[in-house]
Amino acid sequence: MFALAIHGGAGTIARASLSPADELLYRAALDAALSTGYNLLRDGAAALDAVEAAVRSLEDCPLFNAGRGAVFTHDGHHEMDAALMSGHNKLAGAVTGVRQVQNPIRAARLVMEKTEHVLLGYPGADELALEYGLPLQPTEYFFTQHRYNQLQEALREGRMRLDHSQARPAPVAPLDEPDTFVGVADPNWKKGTVGAVARDQHGHLAAATSTGGMTNKRYSRIGDTPLIGAGTWADARCAISCTGNGEYFIRAVAAYDVACLMEYKGLSLEEAARIVVQDKLAPVGGEGGLIAVDAAGNITLPFNSDGMYRASRVEGGEALVAIYKE
Ligand code: ASP
Repeated sequence: MFALAIHGGAGTIARASLSPADELLYRAALDAALSTGYNLLRDGAAALDAVEAAVRSLEDCPLFNAGRGAVFTHDGHHEMDAALMSGHNKLAGAVTGVRQVQNPIRAARLVMEKTEHVLLGYPGADELALEYGLPLQPTEYFFTQHRYNQLQEALREGRMRLDHSQARPAPVAPLDEPDTFVGVADPNWKKGTVGAVARDQHGHLAAATSTGGMTNKRYSRIGDTPLIGAGTWADARCAISCTGNGEYFIRAVAAYDVACLMEYKGLSLEEAARIVVQDKLAPVGGEGGLIAVDAAGNITLPFNSDGMYRASRVEGGEALVAIYKE
């Protein structure tokens, strides 16, 4: 039984805030990413290939906060994080703060497969991508007007305390010509991370997560996404990809905690994931959710926010695409 789940971020996604047309756009993008991964699994591909392909599809879509469409840092840059992990052999790769590589998840895979390391930061991670011929993009590629507007809004409202050290590159000016993508009125101003988890026909599990982080984040801030065990985890029992306020997920070691609850307490995937999201993260302000799959192909998609862009499909079953709490 192969199985796949994906997410496009969790947060304040009220039903009234998305127009029917915008909702259709999100659903179509989720459906396309799900089909990409599902078709690979159906054709016998490894879980790792399926999660990478699904995440790439979401990174290339400007609706989501990863790759093209990544949120802006306080300084007006994009600093992207990504990680993936292969469960049966516990191999993992991750990048932080990358600025140019079109698909950060591909750079994470390079770290896993072509280096002795697990986590590589900017600028070395972008250089590794260049060395292995991954497409790099100019700053303009990652620009979307709606993310730029979200930064301006966050700056106006002073949503974060910020430092003003000198040691930073010059801020990026907005484009003279707005790009062709017309951003949706996204109230989900700081989220939209993407991720995928899969079980393949051999019973192997894998997880992948990619993000621009949080709007208005400090220069060089690193979230939970690229930290193995916090935002991304896979072993022989389960594969997890998280989304939400990264600092809380880091302190909770959220993804690994699901695996621990299964291993040490013998809980089911669903129960373990529910405990982490509802009982551990929610009470301390850790807003968000996760997607998870276990070795039997069970899927669970818990979140404690208003909504989570999500989709899943198990072998031979119907595709589920959802946004809000049902
Ligand atoms: N977890 C991501 C971060 O903190 C953000 C998100 O999931 O939306 O960087």
